[in-house]
Amino acid sequence: MININENFLNLQDSYLFSTIAKKVSEYQQKNPDKKIIKLGIGDVTLPVVDEVRTAMKQAVDEMGKKETFKGYGPEQGYDFLREKIVECEYKNRGITIEKDEIFVSDGAKCDTGNIGDIFSAENRVAITDPVYPVYLDTNVMAGRSGLYKESDGKYSNIVYMPCTAENNFEPELPSEKVDIIYLCFPNNPTGTILNKNQLKKWVEYAKENKSIILYDAAYEAFITENEIPHSIYEIEGAKEVAIEFKSYSKTAGFTGIRCGYVVVPKELKGYTKQGEEVSINKLWNRRQCTKFNGVSYITQKGAEAIYSEEGQKQIKANIQYYLENAKIIVEGLNSIGLKTYGGVNAPYVWLKLPEGVKSWEFFDKLLEEVGVVGTPGVGFGPSGEGYFRLTAFGNRENTIEAIERIKKWDFSKK
Ligand code: PLP
Repeated sequence: MININENFLNLQDSYLFSTIAKKVSEYQQKNPDKKIIKLGIGDVTLPVVDEVRTAMKQAVDEMGKKETFKGYGPEQGYDFLREKIVECEYKNRGITIEKDEIFVSDGAKCDTGNIGDIFSAENRVAITDPVYPVYLDTNVMAGRSGLYKESDGKYSNIVYMPCTAENNFEPELPSEKVDIIYLCFPNNPTGTILNKNQLKKWVEYAKENKSIILYDAAYEAFITENEIPHSIYEIEGAKEVAIEFKSYSKTAGFTGIRCGYVVVPKELKGYTKQGEEVSINKLWNRRQCTKFNGVSYITQKGAEAIYSEEGQKQIKANIQYYLENAKIIVEGLNSIGLKTYGGVNAPYVWLKLPEGVKSWEFFDKLLEEVGVVGTPGVGFGPSGEGYFRLTAFGNRENTIEAIERIKKWDFSKK
């Protein structure tokens, strides 16, 4: 008899995006002539830039010639890309990262999900709330979560760190000892950031408690304000306590191509039950070599092209376009007295709903009365109740129209 991993039965069905899709489809059937504008998606809409496509086409041609054909590549990524990452993402910011600390992958979802393989099921996990759901669900699958409690919508062994307007979206250091800490800045869904001093507290906490920080910097390219750290390694000592996840998905429109990377510094140590130190870099390398066979040459050539002068110009123009959308959303909502967060260093705008208004109630009204779709904040965790996420990844025309519709609609009088 085949026994299953029963931890999977402890997962809560994610109703969020399926419920949204169902409600949108029902509304569209009832109102076939109504144009629905979707500002709920976390996917990019601008096409892949020329520089990347040209490099990928050349790589395809290389694959077609005997002399330049490539079979299996290195599991950790080709040197040409790892060297560019070292140079352009780290050295240029004054951070020393070595090539063999970079692991190229098929994206940050897999990496943030798979990293748990190398940690014991007994570790205590802390997540921010609201949160990108992958961190939580993969820990449920691994048996680290404890049981789900209907009463408060939380798992018993997970330490939730609320990030709300009350604490300015800065998670508080846990009062109990935690081993694995997930931080994501710029944040999905709130669009907020931590400055260097705020991040420093976490590095110090991790050092004191021998914990590890899993730092998701998937939206780093959207940072516009000076002094905001682009990498956790800008904080002194972070290489001893943090793994950093990066992705080309939102940075360069790679959501469909798939490429990202993880930085696992060699200073980073984990411990056996007997307290012996073990290199995390070695463990991750072993894990990747066993379970992963590398990212395609064509994809990595595309990623490399992002770092050329022209590539940088082209992807930055796209990021600028999304940030301009975010500005339109923020300014439009603020002009009718709604309070928003994020949208300056991130492609997400986190709307604080008027007192007493629930996330799903707002979703329904916005869809039915305005024909605009967003994401209810509570779908990202209990502390997201009373908030609503709008994304800047739509096209300009639709973004402007959506905001104009919301401005004409006086929600407070409903
Ligand atoms: N991390 C965060 C915080 C995200 O919001 C997303 C995607 O929405 C990812 C990771 C996944 O990125 P990728 O496309 O590289 O898997």
